[in-house]
Amino acid sequence: MEAVDDKQQAGARARELSVLLHRYSHEYYIEDAPSVSDADYDGLMRELQRIEERFPELRRADSPTQRVGAAPSAAFAPYHHVAPMLSLSNAFGGDELRAWHARIKRLLDGADASFVAELKIDGLAISLKYEDGAFVAGGTRGDGVIGEDVSPNLRTIGSIPLRLRSAASRLLEVRGEVYMRRSDFEILNERRTAEGKPNFANPRNSAAGGVRQLDPRETARRGLRFFAYALGACEPALPVKTQWELLSSFAAMGLPVNREARRFDDFDELVEFCESWSDKRAQLDFGIDGVVIKIDSLEQQRRLGFIGKDPRWAVAFKFPPEEAVTQLRSIEVNVGRTGSVNPYAVLEPVAVGGVTVATASLHNADFIKAKDIRAGDFVVVRRAGEVIPEVVGPLLERRTGKRLRRYELPARCPACGAGVYRAQGEAVAYCENAACPAQRKERLHHFASRGAMDIEGLGDRLCEALVDAGLVSDVGDIYALTAQTLRALPRMGDKLTSNIVSNIAASKGRPFERLLYALGIRFVGGQTAALLGLEFPDIDALAIATQADLIRIEQIGPKVAAGIVQFFAEPQNLTIIEKLRVAGVNMRGAGRQRKAEAPGPLSGKTFVLTGTLADLSRDEAAALIKNAGGKVSGSVSKKTDYLVAGSEPGTKLRKAEELSVPVIDEAKLRDLAQAATQQE
Ligand code: NAD
Repeated sequence: MEAVDDKQQAGARARELSVLLHRYSHEYYIEDAPSVSDADYDGLMRELQRIEERFPELRRADSPTQRVGAAPSAAFAPYHHVAPMLSLSNAFGGDELRAWHARIKRLLDGADASFVAELKIDGLAISLKYEDGAFVAGGTRGDGVIGEDVSPNLRTIGSIPLRLRSAASRLLEVRGEVYMRRSDFEILNERRTAEGKPNFANPRNSAAGGVRQLDPRETARRGLRFFAYALGACEPALPVKTQWELLSSFAAMGLPVNREARRFDDFDELVEFCESWSDKRAQLDFGIDGVVIKIDSLEQQRRLGFIGKDPRWAVAFKFPPEEAVTQLRSIEVNVGRTGSVNPYAVLEPVAVGGVTVATASLHNADFIKAKDIRAGDFVVVRRAGEVIPEVVGPLLERRTGKRLRRYELPARCPACGAGVYRAQGEAVAYCENAACPAQRKERLHHFASRGAMDIEGLGDRLCEALVDAGLVSDVGDIYALTAQTLRALPRMGDKLTSNIVSNIAASKGRPFERLLYALGIRFVGGQTAALLGLEFPDIDALAIATQADLIRIEQIGPKVAAGIVQFFAEPQNLTIIEKLRVAGVNMRGAGRQRKAEAPGPLSGKTFVLTGTLADLSRDEAAALIKNAGGKVSGSVSKKTDYLVAGSEPGTKLRKAEELSVPVIDEAKLRDLAQAATQQE
């Protein structure tokens, strides 16, 4: 009787889990907007797997454990995979990985095996179809058999070759991951902020959403990239016997392959490799959520075969989650350097990405409102590497019992009591008082921070003490600080004081673009500062630039331009700049703006770059053109003088041909720059 009850209960729970998992995978794969963390999803999936292992008769054909991904969306034409696209079973931690190894060894009757370990890139799985070496179509995984046809979108991705270098096979299905670099993701969000659009949550969703756009131009704007890692159908078969050879063969075809892949004979070394990446992942410019381990020999892979939707010969080693669920105790606010009043979350402490997190960012009042986050909610918290932990959103289904109040931003600044205002259409609210001590401390701290003037020792506490003691009222005062003044502050020994004084002195020589970032001009982040540093020779040239001058610069929009003009229109800021000048802080850069001076050899010519050039990186080619007085533009138009095309050019090549814009290679570009120089 007990057993019947037990089974009934398990059946009810299995149905409940199926409903939830189907809903979550729809949100994740179709809407690109998951509402629960991956770790929670994986936990529920495991619970269902365990129930089905105990009561196999409860396993239904449409159970989430038996399905790959989700049914394709009707918004796209169906894409039929020639060979099915599968999933991977997971191993959480070294012990589970070793258990997988033991199982494999048994199944191979004790035979030795080698393994290939590849980083598990966190993006969107894609299949590309090549016929006689030419890209003909590509689709998402969908349910593994039918995906979504996203061919026009994939054509805009620069790292997907439209023609393979060697074309041995009549038909070749290449599987890989489309992903977005973190740096590109930041630029995208910086641009969206400047355009007044909401930010994207993370590079994975942004990449998945980018591929599944109805307008390929939107895909092209996201700067997506691709890594190849597996083979689908292939006729005739490639002459490779191992996964390792397959990766080299992909590289020889011109397909991008991740360089961190390693081959192992010793399983302990492999486990060590996997665990080491758990810590090192934050150093990468793209997200990974684990390491995929594959048996190297294709013959052994065939012998091991599949179990359900997962190959037996591969496993995904998953890192500890970078997301966790916890309760939001309260919402507090702090005041930033621009006076922005920023709400943040006070959390029930929780372990995320290897550390305990007790506070997290909530961005702004609009974000809280859009997500309907309320004190008392259970929320998803994310922390990736060094990045500040943030609240991703509430788990609305867990909001039960007592009624929780909607959040309202305070009407007065918590630091100085002045009014808090919010301009129409602005997401962020500001403290009205420019002399607010909280703002001063933050401005000082930002100026001294690592990406800015990098003054070691001038941290949070010292900034606070300096402002409270009235020793520093703006960043210009930093350079007037003496050892004697600093020594008088609490907890300041001789050694520390002299270190700080010499660090302050050393910061005077930082590159110009660092100073521009350090000044805390609204909307000028590190990327924009670097751009301005390239465009303007010194601070005085920037200070007199008009909004029209600034907008002419590629990637600078009206909002950023207005922020810069406003900054230099403020007398207080000009006083600060004078203080910095008198102190001897470097205010000159490598910027050219030479139009007014001697014209460069490529003056008046506009270039567009596409594809991978022979020797120069994109940035180097752009610098070459700009240093010779030319202009670089992001898109081909009638005004373009030359398209510089490397291998695997994008859609710009077609556009240039349509508009009869001359297409040149890197060598010709160098010739032009030089010939012109010689003529001078
Ligand atoms: P998976 O992510 O566990 O592994 C398979 C995928 O790994 C492949 O499809 C491919 O995209 C990727 N991959 C990256 N590098 C690879 C490499 N070198 N070789 C092979 N594959 C590589 O399985 P899945 O079925 O794609 O997705 C399931 C996972 O997605 C879950 O474990 C969960 O973390 C997440 N998910 C989350 C939600 C949610 O609501 N948060 C919903 C559904 C799925």
